[in-house]
Amino acid sequence: MDGRVTSLASRKSTAIAPSRRALVTGGSGFVGSHLCEKLLAAGHEVVCLDNLVTGHRSNVAHLAASPHFSMVIADVVDPVALDVDTIFNLACPASPIQYQKSPIDTLKTNVMGAANMLELARNKGARIFQASTSEVYGDALVHPQKETYWGNVNSFGPRACYDEGKRCAETLFYDYHHRFGVDIRIARIFNTYGPRMNREDGRVVSNFVVQALTNEPITIYGDGSQTRSFCYVDDLVSGITALMSRDDAPTSPVNLGNPAEFTVRELADLVVSLTGSRSPIIHLPLPLDDPRQRRPDISLARSCLDWAPRVQPIEGLVRTIAYFDSVLSGTDLKETAS
Ligand code: NAD
Ligand code: UDP
Repeated sequence: MDGRVTSLASRKSTAIAPSRRALVTGGSGFVGSHLCEKLLAAGHEVVCLDNLVTGHRSNVAHLAASPHFSMVIADVVDPVALDVDTIFNLACPASPIQYQKSPIDTLKTNVMGAANMLELARNKGARIFQASTSEVYGDALVHPQKETYWGNVNSFGPRACYDEGKRCAETLFYDYHHRFGVDIRIARIFNTYGPRMNREDGRVVSNFVVQALTNEPITIYGDGSQTRSFCYVDDLVSGITALMSRDDAPTSPVNLGNPAEFTVRELADLVVSLTGSRSPIIHLPLPLDDPRQRRPDISLARSCLDWAPRVQPIEGLVRTIAYFDSVLSGTDLKETAS
């Protein structure tokens, strides 16, 4: 990274020289790094704010040479003063294994982080985006999930720090919009995968791809009949930027995901076949409160944003496999990840 890295850890409210620019919290994580890249390519000035709990400098190292990119090492739990006109609030570990490592920090990140970013948006008159999640639907009793479904979430379990934190963040967005007129956008993001996922992330796509490429056992939790719908990261980022760039976009939550639904067993078989792996498949216990099925109804995003995913699952998996292959063989493909 270059010399424009600033640490705010000991200076809780530091103003940065005024200019028109976008703040991306969680910008050195998986989705955030792709978003920073797309915003820079579209001519925005980008400030990436991250505490590096699951993100890595290497995800944005290829952006550091740009005079329009800067990085701030800080925690969204602390208030921050930055001159920005657009805020993308993505800070939060997304993988169950990662967000359950420090559940109280996860909850604080979701709730206090959202409140701090909303205060910043209110002070600056900035439009603000919240990375919400399909987890607000919990172990859904309605399938596929529409935005009007209120969900089935356990508030007293290992996933609650994330699910309830994200639900509370949505409530804060609602109240800042209705009380103070803050210009909000919320995406309920369904399982997203692609290059720059951390190999230690713990989510199913990165686990299966890394296991297959190293001929290690593929770990299916439970019997593998649970379903998920997987969205390639470029499609998600297009949805996020469409939601933020349109003045007429909904201020209510919008599902973003790929409706192509797979059982976990089908995903394992597909990854084995695409990699030509010799990995055996093994079964491990299903984690507590693991949702049974997930598929987004994306009719709202189609009609309001003219958005739909374009990358077919096999194409996305092939690109992701190529990325992890390069990581495992020591050839860095981060810059050309998309
Ligand atoms: P990630 O773990 O790769 O990235 C999260 C980033 O946030 C990391 O860079 C991390 O260091 C940073 N971060 C975490 N806590 C922070 C804090 N307190 N202060 C500052 N930075 C902090 O995860 P991701 O997959 O890129 O997810 C990005 C966002 O999208 C998250 O908010 C997540 O909840 C949401 N989301 C992702 C998915 C998905 O499938 N990828 C699905 C639903 C929602
Ligand atoms: N899963 C699995 N093996 C793994 C990782 C995950 O079978 O190595 C399962 C997990 O139990 C869940 C699904 O795959 O049913 C998706 O898990 P992930 O952690 O990717 O995301 P979630 O949607 O549960 O947040």
